[in-house]
Amino acid sequence: MASSDTSVTIGVISSFHQDNLSKKFYNEIKAAIVSIVPTIEVIDFVVDDTIEMRAIDEVIDCRDAQKLSEKKTKNESVHGVEIVEWVNSRLVSERYQLDNFIVGPNTQLAHAACDAVARRPGSSYNPLYIYGNVGLGKTHLLQGIANTIRWKQKDLRVVYTTADKFLTDYVASIKWRSVDKLRERYRQIDVLVLDDVQFLAGKKQTQEELYNIFNILYEAGKQIILSGDRPPRELTELEARLQSRFEWGITVDVSEPDYETRLAIIGEKARAREFLLPQNVAEFIAENVSTNVREIEWILNQIIAEYDLRGTPPTIENVAMRLSKLPIRSLTPSMTTSKSIRSTHCSYEDLIQAVSGHFGIEIRALLSEDRKKENMIPRQVAMYLLKNKLHYTYERIGN
Ligand code: ADP
Ligand code: MG
Repeated sequence: MASSDTSVTIGVISSFHQDNLSKKFYNEIKAAIVSIVPTIEVIDFVVDDTIEMRAIDEVIDCRDAQKLSEKKTKNESVHGVEIVEWVNSRLVSERYQLDNFIVGPNTQLAHAACDAVARRPGSSYNPLYIYGNVGLGKTHLLQGIANTIRWKQKDLRVVYTTADKFLTDYVASIKWRSVDKLRERYRQIDVLVLDDVQFLAGKKQTQEELYNIFNILYEAGKQIILSGDRPPRELTELEARLQSRFEWGITVDVSEPDYETRLAIIGEKARAREFLLPQNVAEFIAENVSTNVREIEWILNQIIAEYDLRGTPPTIENVAMRLSKLPIRSLTPSMTTSKSIRSTHCSYEDLIQAVSGHFGIEIRALLSEDRKKENMIPRQVAMYLLKNKLHYTYERIGN
């Protein structure tokens, strides 16, 4: 709702959430925010009525989908688009387009298949199943298809959802006795985009529901697009008949980008943020972060925040320090053997000493409970590192 250099105010649905978030999740939320804007010291949770309205909308949706669907039908001007707004469209980001996805050898086939499906849904590859490790662009591609179809073929009802959300919706529909409505809703879809199907592992009843929806849509020639973290036949906790259906169309993988592709991705992300990144820094990042594009974006966000808030220009030295905070698996071998990375395998004492040395404050001050401004950021950095590098619990950090 509001923010300054040192504080953020977050709107919440109810006083229950306010209480719960500020008592149980304060540290996690703060750590997440501080990792982006290091100067933040205080986070407030304030009840915001406008959010409440939206949440109630969803509750009505579960309890009485019929009423909502009548209301929506009345409002419909462009049939398909309204349905998109209706089912989980808040999950889709316009940032993810097929044409701002950088195509490299690792994603050429996947991108071509997505492009073909977005042009002629239901007629080329059905289902389209994309798999690969996290952070390699599956969600980007899936949402890119949803966005393209939404704009180019407004009469089609496109639904993007995640397996996780599908599960939650399904469970809610059982609770509110509206499973029929949920089925009816999914039956009307022209294009179903379902992200991260691996989350249905072991969820037998939800798989059964998806199986039925899949069959109905498939037989009606509707397009289905899926993603998972591995190929269908390795999803061993999914029913065999679902696995085999996922393979009926085309299965393509996304793998790690090579150096040139990483460099192009960095360039594109900086351009999208209208940030001028020195070429040597872009190359340094491309050389050192190899496995996960999300982490490339994380670094870039840090660099931009640092520049916006403190005017610190990005240099290789600053970026190297940021990189040392990444998990080792994301880094190239050259980086993992360098000094800055080796220092992540350190003891509690090493870590405290390094933070105190870096910020030039005494260890005693770092560990004390005073609220002096100059000690706050070093202390938060130390807490962050203890949590993320040495996997300390918050309780242990507190002690
Ligand atoms: P996944 O769903 O496979 O875990 P995402 O689609 O969420 O990965 O990708 C993580 C981030 O990396 C997203 O912000 C996405 O835009 C970006 N990304 C990944 N691959 C590319 C690419 N080839 N071109 C542009 N951005 C990419
Ligand atoms: Mg994803």
